[in-house]
Amino acid sequence: MIQELPDLAMQVEVVGCPTVCLHCWAMGRPYQAMPLEEISWVLHEVRRFCTTHQLSFTGYPMHEVLAHPQAGEVLVLFQQLWEVAFDPLPTTGVPLATRPDWREILAPLRSYCVPMLWFAFHGTGEVHDCMVQRQGAYLESLRAVALARQAQVHTGCNLFLTTENVSHFDQLVADLLQAGMESIDPCIYGFTPNARGRLTERVRPTWQEVQPILAQLDALPVDDLVRRGWREEVHPESWFVQQALSGSWPAEPEKAEQRLIWLVCRPNLDVYRGDAGHYTRRYGNLRRDGVDDILNRALADGACSHEELWFTPEQLLPVQEVAARFGDQKSQRIHDAGSVRHWWLDCARRAGPMKQQPGRTSLNGSPFVGCRVHAGHEGRTTFSSRAWSRPS
Ligand code: SF4
Repeated sequence: MIQELPDLAMQVEVVGCPTVCLHCWAMGRPYQAMPLEEISWVLHEVRRFCTTHQLSFTGYPMHEVLAHPQAGEVLVLFQQLWEVAFDPLPTTGVPLATRPDWREILAPLRSYCVPMLWFAFHGTGEVHDCMVQRQGAYLESLRAVALARQAQVHTGCNLFLTTENVSHFDQLVADLLQAGMESIDPCIYGFTPNARGRLTERVRPTWQEVQPILAQLDALPVDDLVRRGWREEVHPESWFVQQALSGSWPAEPEKAEQRLIWLVCRPNLDVYRGDAGHYTRRYGNLRRDGVDDILNRALADGACSHEELWFTPEQLLPVQEVAARFGDQKSQRIHDAGSVRHWWLDCARRAGPMKQQPGRTSLNGSPFVGCRVHAGHEGRTTFSSRAWSRPS
């Protein structure tokens, strides 16, 4: 019987990115496109294996699928063979603005009631360009918004608030609305425990910095879920320290349930346990070692939470312990619960081993068991309701 939640999740690295976004949890960067025939073979073979073993499965093309030379065909393959829904489809917009066949590559989105592209903005002009490491990217992304609207594709975006862009938020919103942006979700980066995540911490805004922006939310085309997130889920680090130390750590929604076999297929068809940009155990090469052997090895290792891809059981310390040691009781920098806990766990990991005290348990009540962080392909944001595998 096919289970409701997927048993197996595979990211397939079909093409790299024209940008190197500094917030990107998936460590996107330029690399060569996987040929369409190889992509088709991988999708067929994984589907065959999962059907034979009565496993449900899901996956996603990484990293910036619209940059693939045959982007339209790649989208159709994932739609038809793995039932992946690109509604919305995340993109920086750069590929759309820089290729002549932009109208054709949007064609597969027309199968949805509400075809939509989902962008990510980090500021105006050079602030945005610097964050995605591409000169002119801001103007390219605005142009892509206008092109999408011309093609009757709807547009929305994450607008990541940082210490560098809060002062020109109004100009950014004006530019977006003028380009045709229909939905704007101000959000903050969720901390990702990797090199880019640590680098991006330097621009995490404070509670005081975002107050003038929050006062305007009702006047903007903002998703209700995002408004609620700002009211209920995000707080300064100092607030989270108090909650951890007083034993009233807030629930971290949407997480514990996703125990999966997390796989990533590299462009050379090597398969690893992990996530795009984060590779742990190598199982082998699909062509050379055989699909069944590799996926059987992955099955034998079993499912885990997404958090367990990033931290070993020994590193998943109780939140009280890491808050006491690494929490900043004065910090006004904004996080959600998962983000700040991962920040503290990462601090602990870099500081070296701490001894687990007998009888102490993790926040879930069982020793060393952690929750899942959103694999949201969205340079993990806070409070996003969107697809688990969205990068931009
Ligand atoms: S956010 Fe998207 S476009 Fe940017 S580096 Fe990551 S995968 Fe590539």
